[in-house]
Amino acid sequence: MQITSHGAAGFVTGSCHLVDTGSSRLLVDCGMYQGSKSLNRLNYEPFAFDPESIDFVINTHAHIDHCGLLPKLVKHGFNGTIYASPPTADLLPIMLSDSAYIQEKDTEHENRRRLRKGLEPRQPLYTEEDVEKTVSLIQVINYNDSMQAAPGVTFRLRDAGHVIGSSIVELFVENKEADETKTVFSGDLGQWDVPIIEDPTFILNSDYVFVESTYGDRVHQKVLPRKEELLRQITRTCGRGGKLLIPCFALERTQELLYVLSALKNEAPDFPPVNIYLDSPLAIKITEVFKKHPDIYDEEARARTDQPFDFPGLVCTPSVEESRQVNQLDGPAIVIAGSGMCNAGRIRHHLKHGIWDPRNTVLFVGYQAPGTLGRILLDGAEEVKMMGSEFVVKAEIAKIGSFSAHADKDELTNWLTNFKEKPKTVFLIHGEPDTLETFSANLTSLGFNTKIAEKDKPLFKEADGWK
Ligand SMILES: [Zn+2]
Repeated sequence: MQITSHGAAGFVTGSCHLVDTGSSRLLVDCGMYQGSKSLNRLNYEPFAFDPESIDFVINTHAHIDHCGLLPKLVKHGFNGTIYASPPTADLLPIMLSDSAYIQEKDTEHENRRRLRKGLEPRQPLYTEEDVEKTVSLIQVINYNDSMQAAPGVTFRLRDAGHVIGSSIVELFVENKEADETKTVFSGDLGQWDVPIIEDPTFILNSDYVFVESTYGDRVHQKVLPRKEELLRQITRTCGRGGKLLIPCFALERTQELLYVLSALKNEAPDFPPVNIYLDSPLAIKITEVFKKHPDIYDEEARARTDQPFDFPGLVCTPSVEESRQVNQLDGPAIVIAGSGMCNAGRIRHHLKHGIWDPRNTVLFVGYQAPGTLGRILLDGAEEVKMMGSEFVVKAEIAKIGSFSAHADKDELTNWLTNFKEKPKTVFLIHGEPDTLETFSANLTSLGFNTKIAEKDKPLFKEADGWK
């Protein structure tokens, strides 16, 4: 058996791990590179393997950096099965169609630039047609069920507690000694005690482990999305007749917010009688997936007798016309719109209509990367440029703590030390170089044998041990 990380090796995105068992070849994830221009460029390079030679893919979850190149894989000849948990299988068509739309729009924009420079136009990475073909290859597999996907190759998905449907993969490959070698791929691991979804599953044994290391060098401050602070922002803003504008990520963060808002509406007598507009077609579709899978909620979410994603006062506005009407509303309201860092999406229209109005509040509930409009606002800009115009910032800019979707150093370490017997090797993937080094040193000090995976460099297994 040979495993090669073709992405998320030495950096965070583009998760793609090729397992060659000798008799079959499979991928764990086929994600898109995201972030800097040089990373984005990698998406356009040919795969380092022949897509036609891959028998099947196991997709850990629906974040684009784990699934975003599946349509490219299909476009270039892959025709096998794509296995995914039921919520992931429901999310993939939504996330991939959105991605295809972005690819096509970006290419149109890029080609206008190339045309002016006398360069040949570029093809989009993939189109909606490729997405449709990809979706037709998906096969659902429930958590904890065993699936024999090829002779001598069996796998099982376990809840990774990261986003709805996210999975850890346990892969069992028969070896020459008529025994089996077990390899675990952590996928992205979530934090413990977050709303709605279960905690990550502890795995008790494995020969080899591939573990994500995104926050392998830091400990998150444990901040709950503070209900009291959220309520305070709502009552203050609505009390002065303003709108509370919440830029939000469509997958998981929006649903956490709705979950808290619906509870507040029930519990807090001073919750104002205002509408909550969910103004993001993507988040609306994703919320439908959450509503469809209450079976995998955690105990607290299952115990709720109300509908946390469908409650009086929640108004979904999928169409552009409905969104425009929300823009033009005068009077108190709560508006949730994407994108989470204000770089694109409908939130920019809401900001255009409301950032200059001191009655309004822009409330950030997630991380704002340097350089994004969200970060610029949080850093206290007095004027911002959007859609070619200058706007004075008079709205209040606020932020409340919320969960990170990733386990931190302590949680990752705890997950690994919970193995009954230490794995022979722990391969570190999905992290920035410094983080990987720090996390590796930490694990080594605890007695783990670690190796930082390098992009496109095979990790060989020879007889009974890895070279
Ligand atoms: Zn993820």
